[in-house]
Amino acid sequence: MIEKVCRDCYPDKEIRTSVRTSGYAWVDGKKVRPRVAKHPGPRCTTHWRDEVKRVKAVNHEKRVQGVYGLKEGEYAQLYLYQGGLCALCRRATGASRRLSVDHDHATGEVRGLLCRPCNTLLGHARDKLAFFRRCISYLTFPPCRAMREGWTEWFKDE
Ligand SMILES: [Zn+2]
Ligand SMILES: [Zn+2]
Repeated sequence: MIEKVCRDCYPDKEIRTSVRTSGYAWVDGKKVRPRVAKHPGPRCTTHWRDEVKRVKAVNHEKRVQGVYGLKEGEYAQLYLYQGGLCALCRRATGASRRLSVDHDHATGEVRGLLCRPCNTLLGHARDKLAFFRRCISYLTFPPCRAMREGWTEWFKDE
């Protein structure tokens, strides 16, 4: 006798009931042991994991629509449009941690999807273009070199 049988493994309620009392089920003419639902749902471990994933995706979709005003499915569309990568580093895929929706705090315009470090970098730079111009100068003509070569100033913002 089995207490709970996974509802996703056996969507048919009648089969679930028969499985619960007999301890086995016939699937495609084969006798199989039912997957016991140990987790809330009631679902087996595999289907419970799938369900958590599904609920998370639904919640994420609702959140990006509510907070950033994205239209339905637009996050996924933008993700594909960016080739499934962070728009800036082009390394992060969002597999371990979903890419963040980056927006212009002044206008509210959604700019794109970024990984956490890139989003943090933009925030640290306060969206200032001069910061990024300095980054380029820093890498191509670093201040220490400028100093040794006798330049009075390393970088001057326009
Ligand atoms: Zn299952
Ligand atoms: Zn990135």
